[in-house]
Amino acid sequence: MVKFEHKDVFVDAMGRGGIETCYILPRYQLAFDAGRCPYALVDIPRLFLTHAHLDHAAGIPYYISQRSLRHLPSPEIYCPHEIVDTLQDILRLWQKLEGYEYPLTVRGLEVGSRVEVRKDMYVRALRSFHRVPSRGYALMRQSRKLKEEFLSLPGKEIQRMKEQGKKIFEDRDIPLFVFSGDSTIEFLTENSEAREATVLFLECTYIDDKRPVAKAREWGHIHLDEVLENRALFQNEKIVLTHFSRRYTKRFIAQVLKRKIQDEEFLSRLFILAHED
Ligand SMILES: [Zn+2]
Ligand SMILES: [Zn+2]
Repeated sequence: MVKFEHKDVFVDAMGRGGIETCYILPRYQLAFDAGRCPYALVDIPRLFLTHAHLDHAAGIPYYISQRSLRHLPSPEIYCPHEIVDTLQDILRLWQKLEGYEYPLTVRGLEVGSRVEVRKDMYVRALRSFHRVPSRGYALMRQSRKLKEEFLSLPGKEIQRMKEQGKKIFEDRDIPLFVFSGDSTIEFLTENSEAREATVLFLECTYIDDKRPVAKAREWGHIHLDEVLENRALFQNEKIVLTHFSRRYTKRFIAQVLKRKIQDEEFLSRLFILAHED
């Protein structure tokens, strides 16, 4: 696992295209995708599945079974609503094979669905663009701020207006962490949450000319060239590129990025989530 950290966002990350994807946010007790179920996932009670390709979903039966063995409460699993029934069928069949029944909570999410995870936080399901039903996810923090026109007023005056019930605050939900799952670049162009997230985890499966943009699009993925073309859209503090094809070594990825990106400011916001071997 790779450890990623930026401000309030800590992620134990496993992100290998076609092999295994699982991002665990222990601080918020939730995870995105199960990969092959790294053991740290077993402790996490809430799982959001982007889609059911096996590099993202194979670990689910093991995850549920391990939690049950350890007498942990049955997890809450969220997935695209189109696949709920099939996923439940598979999980029931595994229970049959194991000769043991455990309660199942699988909830399907539409684009825009919202799941409360804490008093001031929720996860919003985002539209993503892949070859099978898929969702991206945004971890949102609700925040209430004094409206701009009142910022210069003295505290007493603000107190008085508050008591009079005047609308001096505005609610603004901040996308703290966004994960694309597998998707074409439209995930970025169609979702403001992705562009504005403090931390954006974006799949970037292909990076070289052997697998050009057209190929990436055909398979429902993003090519590095598309990330660079759309550079001006990223307002994120950190952009984590992940889900690189297993064809690329970490070293090769670093070389290609160095060659293709001259913009130092953009480069300073990038984090390459690649694994050693
Ligand atoms: Zn994948
Ligand atoms: Zn996929």
